[in-house]
Amino acid sequence: MTEKKAEMSQAMKEKLAPKQFVKTTINGTKFTILVSSAKGGVGKSTVAINLAFALQNLGLKIGILDADVYGPSLPKLINLNEKPKSEDGKALIPLEKYDAQCMSMGFLVDEQTPMIWRGPMVISALKTMTQKVLWKDRDVIIVDMPPGTGDTQLTFAQEVKVDGAIIVSTPQDLALLDVKRGIQMFDKTGVKILGLIDNMSFFKGDDGKEYKIFGESGVEKTAKEFNKEFLGHLPIHQDLRSSADKGDPLTHSDPEHEVSRLFLDIAKKIKLSLN
Ligand code: ADP
Repeated sequence: MTEKKAEMSQAMKEKLAPKQFVKTTINGTKFTILVSSAKGGVGKSTVAINLAFALQNLGLKIGILDADVYGPSLPKLINLNEKPKSEDGKALIPLEKYDAQCMSMGFLVDEQTPMIWRGPMVISALKTMTQKVLWKDRDVIIVDMPPGTGDTQLTFAQEVKVDGAIIVSTPQDLALLDVKRGIQMFDKTGVKILGLIDNMSFFKGDDGKEYKIFGESGVEKTAKEFNKEFLGHLPIHQDLRSSADKGDPLTHSDPEHEVSRLFLDIAKKIKLSLN
C-alpha cells in the first residue's frame, strides 16, 4: 500500500470508529447531581429545590442549575428576576439567593417569552449553562432537569461529568411507566442512579389518617424491581406548595417543618452516596 493510501485508510477507520464522548466537568463544583422525572407535573422542581436547601442545611455549599430550557421554574421558586452579568461578554456570573448560586434560562429571557427552539439551539444553551457559568466554590450543583428522555438528558448523559441522578415520581401506574423508561435511559447512558423519590405519596387529613391518593408504594416497588435505592416518601403538603409559590422553599424558610425533616433524611442519604 502506498503511503497516501495508508493515510486515507487510517482516516477512514477513525471516521467510522464509535464516537467517544468527551465529558466536561462543570467547573467550580465538587459534585453535580441531576434531579429528573420521566413525567411532567410530579413535583420534580419542587423536590429539586427543597433537596438543594436540605443539602445546604447539612453544611454543603450549593448551586442550582435549572436545565429546563422550555419551561424554567427557578426564577419563580426563589423569587429572583435579575439578569446574570458577564465581565468578558462570554462567561456568566451566577445569581445568588439564600446563599445558593443559581442559573436558569428564565434569568436570560422574559418570563412571558416562549422558547420556540429546535434541539440544536437547546443543546447550545445547555453548553453555555454548563461550560460558561462561573460557578465558584460549590460542593454540589443540583440540576433541575426537564421531564422526559430528550435532548437535555442525552446532552447531560453524554457530555457532562455527572455524579448521579435522582428520579422523582408520583406513585400512580401512569407515572411509573415513564419512570421505568427514565431508569433505562440513565442505565444505558452510564449515569449512576442515586435513587428514587416518591412525591405526593400521601395526604394526611385533619383526622390524622394518611390518604394514598395516587396509590401505594409504586415507586418503592419500582426501585426494588430495578435494583435501585429508594430514597423516601414525601407527602402532599400545602406548605410545600405555598412556600414554592412564595419563592422561599420550605427547607430554607422552615427547616424544622415535618416535611423539611423528610427532605433532610433524603439529603443525608445523598450526601453519604457522594463520599
Ligand atoms: P414538575 O417540576 O414535576 O413539573 P412542580 O415542582 O412544578 O412539578 O410541581 C407542580 C405543582 O405541584 C406545583 O404547584 C408545586 O408547588 C406542587 N407540588 C409539588 N410537590 C408537592 C407536594 N409534595 N405537596 C404539595 N404540592 C406539591
